[in-house]
Amino acid sequence: MSKIRTVCGDIDENSIGITYSHEHLHADHPSQDLTLTINDDDKTANEVNLFKKFGGNTIIEATVKDMGRNLESLRYISEKTNVNIVASTGNWIDQYFSPEMALMSVEDLANLYIKDIIKGEKGVLCGQIKVASSLHVIHPNEEKALKAACIAQNVTGAPIWIHHGGSRGLEIIDLLEKNGADLSKVILGHIDRNPDLYEHLQFVKRGVNVSVDNLDRVYRYPVQVNIDVIDNLIQHGYEDQIFISADFGRYTYYKSYGGGPGLSYILDCFYPRLIDQLKLSEEQIYKLQVSNVRRVYAQF
Ligand SMILES: [Zn+2]
Repeated sequence: MSKIRTVCGDIDENSIGITYSHEHLHADHPSQDLTLTINDDDKTANEVNLFKKFGGNTIIEATVKDMGRNLESLRYISEKTNVNIVASTGNWIDQYFSPEMALMSVEDLANLYIKDIIKGEKGVLCGQIKVASSLHVIHPNEEKALKAACIAQNVTGAPIWIHHGGSRGLEIIDLLEKNGADLSKVILGHIDRNPDLYEHLQFVKRGVNVSVDNLDRVYRYPVQVNIDVIDNLIQHGYEDQIFISADFGRYTYYKSYGGGPGLSYILDCFYPRLIDQLKLSEEQIYKLQVSNVRRVYAQF
């Protein structure tokens, strides 16, 4: 039996339960946009308890160091709520590379990622590698991080989660494949930001998993778009490769900070509609909520 690496240690894969596959629980974010900073761990723990109240059990936390990650905070939130949290090593988009990281070689970055996964910080270990591409280009620093992620995956087995800017998905897959990544352990994120149904099928045909995670972004498009993206993948036989989360990476999404719709949104709002509209079977719901993530994250 394989284990999933959480901030409180490795857990049996069958302990994963209902999982959100891409969220942010603590970020001392370097951006001028203060809504990206989420750093009151007690308020966040209250928010995580809302998720728990609706049956949630595990959260994959996607904040990397250059977005203001704090592994001890994640452990604190996990201990306080009894919800499993998987933390991320890696890098975000070029704009947020620290000067030190921008100077590092592919090998240096890979060693850093490997260290985060094997040794961690103050005994808190990471369970996934998150790397990124910008909207229209894969910047040289991002390319370096993508290559480093492949090395780190080969050494540790950890899954790779890609912040996909929206238009370079196939290029990213080519680059990962060329550099020896196991595509069955890659998740191409944010695919609903560019709801190009034809292109989504080109992604999954290559063997990667895809993440539908920009939920309730009604300023961009109606929720129906998220539903159509999922429906398209299911209709073409790719229900084993779909990951669902909301990516609520701003405190303004959280009820405990005075915002909304709150971390329970996927379970209390989105899934009931998705299940009703697509007439999903119990087996399909289990794949979307539990077993797809379990298969890809149980690597330790
Ligand atoms: Zn995110």
